[in-house]
Amino acid sequence: MQDVVIIGSGPAGLSAALYILRGGFSTTVIGKDNGALEKAEKIENYFGLDHPLSGHELIENGRKQVQDLGGTLLQDEVVGISWNGNYLVSTASTQIEARAIILTTGTSRKTLKIKNLAKLEGHGVSYCAVCDAFLYRGESVAVLGNGEYALHEVQELLPVVGSVTLLTNGLEPSVDFPPKVTIIQTPVLELVGTDALEAVCLEDGTQLHPACLFMALGTAKGSDLARKLGIRLEDERIIVNEQMDTGLPGVFAAGDCIGGILQVSVAVGEGAKAALSCIKYLRS
Ligand SMILES: Cc1cc2nc3c(=O)[nH]c(=O)nc-3n(C[C@H](O)[C@H](O)[C@H](O)COP(=O)(O)OP(=O)(O)OC[C@H]3O[C@@H](n4cnc5c(N)ncnc54)[C@H](O)[C@@H]3O)c2cc1C
Repeated sequence: MQDVVIIGSGPAGLSAALYILRGGFSTTVIGKDNGALEKAEKIENYFGLDHPLSGHELIENGRKQVQDLGGTLLQDEVVGISWNGNYLVSTASTQIEARAIILTTGTSRKTLKIKNLAKLEGHGVSYCAVCDAFLYRGESVAVLGNGEYALHEVQELLPVVGSVTLLTNGLEPSVDFPPKVTIIQTPVLELVGTDALEAVCLEDGTQLHPACLFMALGTAKGSDLARKLGIRLEDERIIVNEQMDTGLPGVFAAGDCIGGILQVSVAVGEGAKAALSCIKYLRS
């Protein structure tokens, strides 16, 4: 029996664990993997770093902090949660009973099967304008997408970069983009580059050379676990109140799974806030 099971071992989950443990409660953090940050080549937009850290290093530091405080980390996928007076969290290999749950399951960014895209993530392909715009100030960048999420990324980029080309990949823009943005509807054929993005090749043979390609297709699939628990979702995001409370007794949520600004500092802050609310619940 644990006081709290935290589902998700990204920055929000690990941050929540630190507060739960320091509050004198036991916790097991269950995560399938290290989350979105594992893909981030360099984290610079985070307080207190005297040099950029890779996402992997930042997560490993966080995992060590949790273990040093006596927290348990379990690499596994949670497949179900049931209620028998406490919460019963099931993975493929085990079941853990807990008085409270913190959901920090992140989100997955929609992507496309484009040749070399996966290889160039973090090397000229970005999924976060607010994180990376600064690295391309004054330069020409491209955004791949055609809807609200692409518009959001374009609006983040325009005040910082030199110019933005929107690649809609064969689709009509579904919202109005600022007139400053060049819109190209021709489908993307492949990306070229070995260690860094060198060109975006379109199906009509055109080659573009943006300093960065920002993927802005939106986020995919909300938390299936939240859905199973009957927690309210909106646009596939878990709805919480100011206290990170989902409305289900003892179930809190934080980080990318609740949406908002998808940044490590935000996830860490929300993880801490969810943990403090959870501690209040456990003490009540
Ligand atoms: C390529 C890339 C680069 C980025 N660069 C930056 C950057 O430079 N600066 C910045 O501030 N932010 C950056 N971000 C964003 C940042 O990584 C995220 O905002 C942050 O990781 C969100 O933390 P989280 O804990 O909410 O979710 P995540 O880090 O995504 O963690 C989710 C966790 O939930 C687990 N999980 C999900 N479902 C289950 C389940 N059923 N059972 C068990 N575990 C489950 C996952 O395995 C994972 O451990 C970047 C993101 C990407 C993809």
